[in-house]
Amino acid sequence: MEQKIQNEPLPLRSRLTPIEIERIRADFPILEQVIDGNRLIYLDNAATTQKPRVVINAISDYYRKYNANIHRGLHYLSERATEMYEHTREHAARFLGGVDPSEVIFTRGTTEAINLVAYTWGEQNIREGDEIVITEMEHHANLVPWVQLAKRKHAVLKRIPITPDGYLDLTNINEIITPRTKLLAISHMSNVLGTINHVADLAAKAHEHGAVVLADGAQAAPHLAVDVKALGVDFYALSSHKMLGPTGVGILYGRRDLLQEMPPFNLGGEMIREVRFDNVTWADLPYKFEGGTPNIADVVAFDAALHYLEEIGMDRLRQHEMDLTRYTIEQLSAIPGIEIQGPKEVEQRGGAISFTDADLHPHDISTYLDAKGIAIRAGHHCAQPLMRVLGKIATARASIYVYNNEADINALIKALRGMRRYFGL
Ligand code: PMP
Repeated sequence: MEQKIQNEPLPLRSRLTPIEIERIRADFPILEQVIDGNRLIYLDNAATTQKPRVVINAISDYYRKYNANIHRGLHYLSERATEMYEHTREHAARFLGGVDPSEVIFTRGTTEAINLVAYTWGEQNIREGDEIVITEMEHHANLVPWVQLAKRKHAVLKRIPITPDGYLDLTNINEIITPRTKLLAISHMSNVLGTINHVADLAAKAHEHGAVVLADGAQAAPHLAVDVKALGVDFYALSSHKMLGPTGVGILYGRRDLLQEMPPFNLGGEMIREVRFDNVTWADLPYKFEGGTPNIADVVAFDAALHYLEEIGMDRLRQHEMDLTRYTIEQLSAIPGIEIQGPKEVEQRGGAISFTDADLHPHDISTYLDAKGIAIRAGHHCAQPLMRVLGKIATARASIYVYNNEADINALIKALRGMRRYFGL
């Protein structure tokens, strides 16, 4: 099975121009900050992204003009708030390639979306001896729920290994995905290696055996045009805060027939059809999975983030990030002692670039860069098993987004070279 992804580069005129990037940067008030005399250079986008003015204003507008609880009030504010909340759902359904809005469930984030599946579909469908397949590059959010489900059910957790250059190693895939496989849970893009996994092929393989497929889209949805139907997945999870939107909002896309069969997750108000002292029936989709008052303001503001991304165009955003990732990898590779983890081919990866220095601990790298106003991340990136596979205790990770430019990367490279000189290396 071929792991490589064909990604046609856009013609030059379809790329974001330096003027457009400057305009984009000007939309993010936080980027104007100077910290200890240094211009803020934000390269921690895989952790969370900054918010454009339209998103910040949408939150404030909501509370100034529309705040009310949704789905229950018969007054003007409640109707407007409900409309706005449902509008984001419809928008997200289009953003995911045109799914039915009833298949879009709002959660607190990717973590909650995956836990929802583990505690409902998983509890209902996984039995002793069943196999759950994950990969070695999973974030804890797409790992811990399955480790624990496998324990509760006496099921078997199997994993697809990685190659030394950070791709999935599909050599023995026919022994890993088998008729015993009940679930394939796989990240669409790795938050450590940047690898874009070939989800569509793997989903097709899992489906041949009747398995259900969940993709963790936390890192992919912000950077790639995602069409969940084309990917062929049954569940897809994402987080708004990694794609210019507010924290506390995520989406679980689920195939309608599966969602219909699943029991609810949060029991209480809003998710019921009828309640008696001795019996309860559930509301229709998607409300069955949205018990209690949701995060209305942030869901409403997420709509502004989706608009913002669409106005740029996911293809142009992707091309900009490929260009900047290529530049970053070239520049980082030229620094003595620095080793980059993950694929080097930008068509096969996103802009989360993990690296290590032969002589310095990643935390020292991060602290040194912080003193220069450069925000990166160091640690295990919520992927401890992957760190063990890589033989590292931690990595430093610079991760880019649409508002980053060559000047940001130049500052990073200059600081890293300065750091090595500072430590006498
Ligand atoms: N999966 C991946 C690949 C991630 O990078 C993250 C966030 N670091 C998550 C899941 C969890 O997302 P959240 O914390 O927004 O729930």
